[in-house]
Amino acid sequence: MDHFPIFLRVHGRRIVLSGGGEAALAKLRLLMKTAGRITVFTPNPAPEIENWAAEGKLALVRRAMAPGDTMCAALFYAADEDAVEDARTAAIARADGALVNVVDNLEDSQFITPAIVDRDPVTIAIGTEGAAPVLARAIKADLEERLPAALGPLARIGKRFRKAAEALPFGRARRDFWREYYFKSGPAAMTAGEKGVNGALDKLLAEHLTRKARPGHVHFVGGGPGDPDLLTMKARRVLDEADVVIYDRLISKPILELARREAIMIDAGKEGFGPSMKQEEINDLIVQHGLSGAQVVRLKSGDATVFGRLDEEIDAVDAHQIAWSIVPGITSASAAVAEIGQSLTRRGRNSSVRFLTGHDMKGFADHDWATLARPGEVAAIYMGKKSARFIQGRLIMHGADRHTPVTVIENASRPDQRILETTLDALPHALAAAEMTGPALMFYGLAPREAAAARLRRADTEHALYTYPIQAQEAL
Ligand code: SAH
Repeated sequence: MDHFPIFLRVHGRRIVLSGGGEAALAKLRLLMKTAGRITVFTPNPAPEIENWAAEGKLALVRRAMAPGDTMCAALFYAADEDAVEDARTAAIARADGALVNVVDNLEDSQFITPAIVDRDPVTIAIGTEGAAPVLARAIKADLEERLPAALGPLARIGKRFRKAAEALPFGRARRDFWREYYFKSGPAAMTAGEKGVNGALDKLLAEHLTRKARPGHVHFVGGGPGDPDLLTMKARRVLDEADVVIYDRLISKPILELARREAIMIDAGKEGFGPSMKQEEINDLIVQHGLSGAQVVRLKSGDATVFGRLDEEIDAVDAHQIAWSIVPGITSASAAVAEIGQSLTRRGRNSSVRFLTGHDMKGFADHDWATLARPGEVAAIYMGKKSARFIQGRLIMHGADRHTPVTVIENASRPDQRILETTLDALPHALAAAEMTGPALMFYGLAPREAAAARLRRADTEHALYTYPIQAQEAL
């Protein structure tokens, strides 16, 4: 982040602008929304500027800026649309101690003006550090559409009510009250005007003051394979409401970013210098926070019900009569198969699919190899990297065709996704050569669909290891 976003108090402070044309007009329209005192220097003001000056919205000085003109100014805009004049006025303002913005000149600016969604007092500032103004405008348009116009008045009325709301205990109780106001009773009462909203607030507060505290709850949430777009809406919502998030090693950063900033974030899968947290310790943590009345999100990768040691955690929570629920997620097999353009089952090929783990508590996991070795069988193998040679040996021993396709998808759905296309015969060697360090899902009996493989191949050479995610290619 080269530019740190803050909200600057400009109430009653000087804001100076040099320029009288289009660029000046655009900036002035924005600046006049503030409670700052605006002064414009220009020998050639556009008629709009003259009108605003006549209406007392700004002070107009009909000459070029001179040293001392920006004394005590908080902000200065060089908007003459002339590089030489902009450099001259910017130097004056800098010497006078104002923060300087040169319009359309990121390099010489000390601050930038974001795209703004204005629901005063709710203000959303969008910045791209000058990289993509078009993107900023698109995001603004999207937000403008989504945020009700009444948000501003609701927030203003709510602000006056903050003191009264302090009667509610800090934390969840107060948050629940405000959430209900902004998203339910507030907008509903808006039709009756400000009076109606005030009445609704009184009623809501009275009701919340007598309400019993919400008991603790544990959501076992499937966080999907890593791409935040692959989270369910429900997962997003419970993450947003969580007081405590206990997450696994494979949970990606962008997903953790979705939790509230005040939420307690606990990494239950730290590997760093020691072994990861023991299962009993994780159980204890979940129980402890659940009993304290917190809304706990136990965030697991993929789907929580697939190789997630979920039952042990549910038993622990149940033993203390804490309420819980499961929020399903996209398991890595689903995400990975999408990346190779295949389906997990197919008429005439396989009418069942197995989810296998490469190793279990006792080491390499044993399975019904004889059945799997039959032609057309498909298996999604989790945690299979280390046991690839063992799996290969067992399958071949039970008569599997050595040329059966095997595809390994590392970091499925993430920007660093890689796809390894190989055969049962070559699997251990190909895996070792690929040096995969991320989580990888192995498909036994599936190759990338021809069209998908062709597209992947174009991104790399004729090698069987593709580093380009299909999805990303489509987006290009
Ligand atoms: N509950 C998870 C699986 C947990 S076991 C799920 O439903 O996906 C951990 C294994 O999942 C890893 O060893 C790897 O085989 C697989 N896995 C998890 N995330 C993955 C990803 N983004 N890409 C490929 N495999 C992944």
